[in-house]
Amino acid sequence: MLRLSKTSKLDGILSWSLQALETCPGSVNADGSLVDACRGCYATTGNYNYPNVKAPRIENREDWQRDEWVSDMINALESQRYFRWFDSGDMYSLGLAEKILQVMESTPWVKHWLPTRMQKFPKFAKVIKRMQALDNVMVRFSSDSVTGEYVLGLHGSTITDNIGNAPGFVCKAYEHGGKCNGCRACYSKDVPLISYVAHGKKMAKVIKLISIK
Ligand code: SF4
Repeated sequence: MLRLSKTSKLDGILSWSLQALETCPGSVNADGSLVDACRGCYATTGNYNYPNVKAPRIENREDWQRDEWVSDMINALESQRYFRWFDSGDMYSLGLAEKILQVMESTPWVKHWLPTRMQKFPKFAKVIKRMQALDNVMVRFSSDSVTGEYVLGLHGSTITDNIGNAPGFVCKAYEHGGKCNGCRACYSKDVPLISYVAHGKKMAKVIKLISIK
C-alpha cells in the first residue's frame, strides 16, 4: 500500500520517503565513514525513531516494487500542486528512479522536489538528466558539507552554520518555527542553490567536532 507522509514543516505538502541511511548509498565516504551532512542527519533522530514514522518508510521500500505503484502514485497526486520526494532516504535503486521518472512525466501539474546524492553514481546520470529536463521537476544535489561548500554548476543545496556568510538562497524556516511558511524555493528552477541553516543537537555536535580538527 502506498504510504505518503504529510509534514507540518512542508505546509502539509505530501512526501514519499524511505528509511534514512540504509537507503542512502551516497551518504558514505570511500573509507565507509558517513559524510558530514549525514552524520548530523535529522532523519535519524527524534520523531523519526517513532514506530509510526518508521513503519511507512520501511514498507515503502517493498511497496515501490509493485506493478501498480506508478499508477497509484499518479492517482495520489491528482489534487496536489507540490510534492516532496525523500523527506528521508534516497532513490537508492535504478528501478525506483525509473519509476519516479514515470510518475514525474505523468503529473505535469505537480512541482516535484527531489533532493539526492545519487549523482555520485554514474549509472544514475541518464535518469537524473531526464528528470532535470522536465519543467515540473527540481532535482537538488545535496552537498556533503555542513560548512556551506557545494557542487558548482548544478541545482543543489548545502548546510551552513554561518547565516551571514551563507551561499545562495538561505532557507528561512528557522525564522518560522522550522516551517516553510509559504516558501517554495526548494521546488524552483530559478533558485540554483539553497543553504539550510544547521539545526539540532546532533548537527551541532558534528560542526563542533569539525571546527576543532
Ligand atoms: S528554502 Fe523554502 S521551501 Fe525550502 S525548506 Fe526552506 S522554507 Fe521550505
